[in-house]
Amino acid sequence: MAQQEDVFKKLVSHCKEYGFVFPSSEIYDGLGAVYDYGQNGVELKNNIKRYWWDSMTLLNENVVGIDSAIFMHPTIWKASGHVDAFNDPLIDNKDSKKRYRADVLIEEQLAKYDDTIEKEIEKASKRFGEAFDEQKFRETHPRVLEYAAKREALHTRFVRALNDTNLEELQQIIIDEAIVCPVSGTRNWTEVRQFNLMFSTEMGSTADGAMKIYLRPETAQGIFVNFLNVQKSGRMKIPFGIAQIGKAFRNEIVARQFIFRMREFEQMEMQFFVRPGEELKWFDQWKQTRMRWHKALGLGDHKYRFHDHDKLAHYANAATDIEFEMPFGFKEVEGIHSRTDFDLSSHEKYSGKKIRYFDPELNQSYTPYVIETSIGVDRMFLSILAGSYCEEQLADGETRVVLRLPPALAPVKLAVLPLIKKDGLPEKAREIMNSLKFDFQCQYDEKDSIGKRYRRQDAIGTPYCVTVDHDTLTDHRVTIRHRDTMEQERVPVADLNPLIADKVSLKNLLNY
Ligand code: ATP
Repeated sequence: MAQQEDVFKKLVSHCKEYGFVFPSSEIYDGLGAVYDYGQNGVELKNNIKRYWWDSMTLLNENVVGIDSAIFMHPTIWKASGHVDAFNDPLIDNKDSKKRYRADVLIEEQLAKYDDTIEKEIEKASKRFGEAFDEQKFRETHPRVLEYAAKREALHTRFVRALNDTNLEELQQIIIDEAIVCPVSGTRNWTEVRQFNLMFSTEMGSTADGAMKIYLRPETAQGIFVNFLNVQKSGRMKIPFGIAQIGKAFRNEIVARQFIFRMREFEQMEMQFFVRPGEELKWFDQWKQTRMRWHKALGLGDHKYRFHDHDKLAHYANAATDIEFEMPFGFKEVEGIHSRTDFDLSSHEKYSGKKIRYFDPELNQSYTPYVIETSIGVDRMFLSILAGSYCEEQLADGETRVVLRLPPALAPVKLAVLPLIKKDGLPEKAREIMNSLKFDFQCQYDEKDSIGKRYRRQDAIGTPYCVTVDHDTLTDHRVTIRHRDTMEQERVPVADLNPLIADKVSLKNLLNY
């Protein structure tokens, strides 16, 4: 665990050192849980967004995109349930003055029971070697049974408290489980209170009667309120989807863990409208499709898992998360929800406008049901960096830090490097770069030794380095070096474009 935390720290400083992510307003000592993306970060982020956008709108002829405004009519958030129910249960430790989400403290306690069980199993497995029968051990070993029973009892109690929004019970669980504050180490807790996560501001001058409006906490509502506009103007037939990428804002209580939990972040959401009664079939289909999208990145299939929700949101009849193994454990990167007809019906009620679909095949009108896929760009960014970051021991005893990013997502696709800074090599390198820059993000670098320049490119995940040497001037060939294998090959300058285009194309990922 300590080792993993170490990796996480290194990742955070790597992000800063190499222009991926900076703390916001850093010269003013930062702003809590707000971050800026640097020159390499923005390229990677744009590529992630492109991968998602194309997977939705190119691969599905019945999915189209929109870009709705962040500001929306305040009644929308009444209709969506966010004004009344977008709350987290918070609890403070009186000694450390630190604030926590009560549900997260209890989830961590559940994870501790799981860990203890796994440790018992690991120990026994080492002791018994080949002869170890894990299932039998789980079913019969007294200590494992005791922990499993405790875990189960806690889980049942926790789910009931969440579903009943029983704040006293959440507090009682924390007391009964003797959960301590990780900072002060004490159990001196306040009661549990609800905290609304929406930011608000005012629109219009006060003299005119300013209106309180919210910064959207999700992009989905912009899709729902445009359902009819898109359906009618695009003559869309159910089933069809609307995709959107945009900023969302949440006043998170516990905003730690770098860009995993931010107060201003970006979402990629797709709402898929289906016939009532067919939603669970589509839910299942999107679950599988989305998991394939993640695994296509090649970061390791074992790093992903589904986690079904214990507590369904007020609007959902099925929900699961796709979790990724971050340096701090398996964490949600995407939610897939079957949202029923809750949102469209509610907007119909609050707006007084009919929001129905006439299904020509059934010859009837109905309120469509919705499957939502909702993923955070920033969490995706973090998972990709965590899955790509690698410290490698080289044969010559040196280490190199390399980001093994999928080439299609790499901020820079190739670096063009003249071997030395004279003899016409820089001019030749510039000429090559000028012929490639229309197709790929290229970087020219002539400073320091070639080895140092390779390392700089490895650290930002550049898949190819092209070195121009004296022979290039006569044989029109260059050395291309592959990031992952560090292998080098000599290729004609004229072949560079098709060779690189093939390797860095998004098609390689989209073909999942
Ligand atoms: P969590 O339980 O971690 O707070 P959530 O279940 O509230 O997340 P959703 O409302 O389902 O999250 O939002 C969909 C996606 O948006 C999440 O899977 C996540 O990738 C992203 N997301 C949500 N909140 C944040 C945040 N504060 N910072 C960064 N990304 C976020």
